[in-house]
Amino acid sequence: MDLGSWIDLIMCFVLFLLFIYIFASVTVTRLHKVYLGFHFSMMIWPYCQFAMKTVDEPVFQLFYVKAAFVDASLLIAGWIFFTILISGQSQFLKRKFLILLFLPAVFSSLGVILNPNEWFVRPVNGGYVERIYGPIFWINISILVIHALVSLYIIYVALVSDQASRIKSQIMSLLRGILAVTIFLLLDILLNVVLDDYLPVIPGFTSLGIVISAIFFVITIHQDKVFDIVTIAHQDIIDTMEYGILVLDDQERVVEMNQALHPYSKLRPGDRFHMEALLPGTNDAIRTFLDKYREHPDELAEIECLHPRGHLYLSIHAAPIMVSSVRVGRTITFQDITELRRLIDETNHQNTILQERNESLIKVQEELFQTNRKLTKMAITDSLTECYNRHYLTQQLEREVTESREHPFPSAMILIDIDFFKAVNDRYGHLAGDLVICGTVEVLQRLLREKDILARYGGEEFIIYLPDTKETEAVTIAKQLKSAVAANKMSIDNVEHPVSVTISMGVLSITDFKAGQPKDASAYLNDLLKTVDKALYAAKHQGRNRIVSVRR
Ligand code: GH3
Ligand code: MG
Ligand code: MG
Repeated sequence: MDLGSWIDLIMCFVLFLLFIYIFASVTVTRLHKVYLGFHFSMMIWPYCQFAMKTVDEPVFQLFYVKAAFVDASLLIAGWIFFTILISGQSQFLKRKFLILLFLPAVFSSLGVILNPNEWFVRPVNGGYVERIYGPIFWINISILVIHALVSLYIIYVALVSDQASRIKSQIMSLLRGILAVTIFLLLDILLNVVLDDYLPVIPGFTSLGIVISAIFFVITIHQDKVFDIVTIAHQDIIDTMEYGILVLDDQERVVEMNQALHPYSKLRPGDRFHMEALLPGTNDAIRTFLDKYREHPDELAEIECLHPRGHLYLSIHAAPIMVSSVRVGRTITFQDITELRRLIDETNHQNTILQERNESLIKVQEELFQTNRKLTKMAITDSLTECYNRHYLTQQLEREVTESREHPFPSAMILIDIDFFKAVNDRYGHLAGDLVICGTVEVLQRLLREKDILARYGGEEFIIYLPDTKETEAVTIAKQLKSAVAANKMSIDNVEHPVSVTISMGVLSITDFKAGQPKDASAYLNDLLKTVDKALYAAKHQGRNRIVSVRR
């Protein structure tokens, strides 16, 4: 043949190379590539069978026979590869295993191509339309059968694996495919090779097996969308999620669902989903959710509620799936929040208990505070007159004295004693005497300044501390007190006329802080008290109702 005759074949070969290049280089999954290569090899067998009969020259007939058998070896090796991928048994994708698979196929193919001593095939009547097979053919067939058995083993492993339920239909299709090819191949050999002498040649057996298995693949591919890369990825992801996921079309029919959904729903793809059936409208929250779900399908609807069956607490989210602003379906997720809910309830319960305890503690604390205040007041107050007691005064004075040493400032002390008080008691009784003491304290208190301290020193004696007060000021205050007390007429029950008393006062002005102060504050204070007591005594001695002022 001249070059012109070959040119079409060369073009065909170039196109074939381009085809190989394009599907090797584009981004499709390995599964896509293997299947395309596989399907292409499936087409070669029937084509070679046909082409062999269309040519007269034995050399071309032999070419097609060899091509068909080389293709068969590659086909079955490719089949195993495809089985591994489609059944997800990636543990078989190890290099050693693959070499072990392909090497025999390569060697038997070499035997087929070289046909040494016509051990593969011998012509009958000078041509290969009818032919006699030799040992290499049988080796080739044995390898094909072993490959088919390996494929069956992989299918078996896939069937007993964890993910068997999800890919069961795919695996079953593979099984039917391998059985179809094997049975038809063996039938072909039996009828057309072994029983060749007794039966007429029945063509197309192996081709039919290949076509039948291809049909199984096509069905699987269409039914289970195994070639949809997104579906495969999504299926894996959503099946391992904790959430139950339900994808509905715009007619509320189930398109997709995951395994985590099983506790809540027994739906299958294609079933119509009824949210009302899942959540009978038993309370306001559910009714509101169902209304929103029905009336506003374009919006997100969510609810947390008890699943009517069992004690599951569910969080349900229904979100629209929008494509170019058109709702094409929705995704509903179901999350079991029973444990979370229990923890929240438990925490709330503990919180309430804590709050109650806290409140009662606060109450007790308040009571304690009030009691404490009362106690403190009682500890520093004179019970009859309610002015300070001697203990408090002593404490205060000790402090003042200590301070005044460091920051000297003038101050004064007035010691008061009611004149002839025994006589009051004697005349009007002890109770009336008490009232006179109280009435006198009231007058004193009224005239004193905020900073002054009035304390009961004992019996009907009182002491007044005047901080930051000079002598003249102290004497003026003392005079005012003296005249106010004298002018104070007290009405007393069962006593005909108002009672009044006078007071005598010793006034001590403290101006010189350095002269002869003892180091000990209480000794110094005693010193001061003694001095003022002397002044009071002097006032008494001088006739009472008067003031004797001294200085230190
Ligand atoms: P003088 O002018 O010298 O002070 O004469 P006096 O009678 O007031 O004498 P003195 O101060 O020594 O007596 C105080 C009396 O006050 C003695 C006591 O019976 C009386 N007395 C002391 N404390 C109270 C009290 O709390 N209530 C009543 N009713 N009488 C008291
Ligand atoms: Mg007295
Ligand atoms: Mg007195």
